[in-house]
Amino acid sequence: MFPAKIWREFPQRYRLEAAKCKKCGKTFFPPRLVCNSCFHREFESIKLPWEGTLVTYTIIRTPPSSFSDQAPYAVGIIEVVPGLKITCQIVDVDLDKLASGQKLFLEFRLIQKDGKQGVLCYGYKAVPVADYNS
Ligand code: ZN
Repeated sequence: MFPAKIWREFPQRYRLEAAKCKKCGKTFFPPRLVCNSCFHREFESIKLPWEGTLVTYTIIRTPPSSFSDQAPYAVGIIEVVPGLKITCQIVDVDLDKLASGQKLFLEFRLIQKDGKQGVLCYGYKAVPVADYNS
């Protein structure tokens, strides 16, 4: 990932900022330029909650090379507000104990180091709620 792309994605990756259509109220994450519901182009920025419900997940056993040191790992679809789902890695979890419907917190974590320059790319990952308090 190029540094400019990382910089451009700061609001969504670092603050979970979504775009809410000013006309019809539909919320998009990541934000987009045109509402796919009413074609309006003006949005207000809203912050998503740092928790959600696991809708479904998969276990990655054959990852891309930049994630090979983390396999096997889980990637889940998490509903953070009704109708709005995000996809991210689930960490600090026993893969055998993951279950659809469980609550997850989102945390700010290192995602990957990029290339030989080692540009650090941060973003959000999900952790189980039960482990959060222990
Ligand atoms: Zn709209």
